[in-house]
Amino acid sequence: MIETLKPTDVEYVKCEVCLKEVPKSEAQNAEARDYVAYFCGLECYEQWEAEQMKERTQEAGEP
Ligand SMILES: [Zn+2]
Repeated sequence: MIETLKPTDVEYVKCEVCLKEVPKSEAQNAEARDYVAYFCGLECYEQWEAEQMKERTQEAGEP
């Protein structure tokens, strides 16, 4: 049996927005308040960031 040098210990993370699994090394990531969020690409990251901004604005809305 020939063993291929395929890395089997690649860590996968789930995209925070579309829930697609991507290799951790290729994922975009952003530090949220108490966890790190991962994304399959910049599009999802930007979408998530916009959501975070919205939430933050709502929270800080009332003085
Ligand atoms: Zn995604």
